Amino acid sequence: MKVSIDYDLCMGDRNCNKVCPEVFEYDEDQMISRVLVDAVPEHLEDLVRKAAEECAPKAIIVEE
Ligand code: SF4
Repeated sequence: MKVSIDYDLCMGDRNCNKVCPEVFEYDEDQMISRVLVDAVPEHLEDLVRKAAEECAPKAIIVEE
């Protein structure tokens, strides 16, 4: 699985970072989240899906 963030949509509420900090880092200066991994480790895939579902502006793009 791969995941990315559409920065035209991200509103920086930090939810993805709270749901899965192993994959989403929060940038305090830019007030956006960043993806830390090239490929999502298998044991974190469900959390990444949850983060994507909960992202209000639908900025998280998951490629299965
Ligand atoms: S949950 Fe969505 S809007 Fe919020 S910081 Fe993460 S990518 Fe941005």
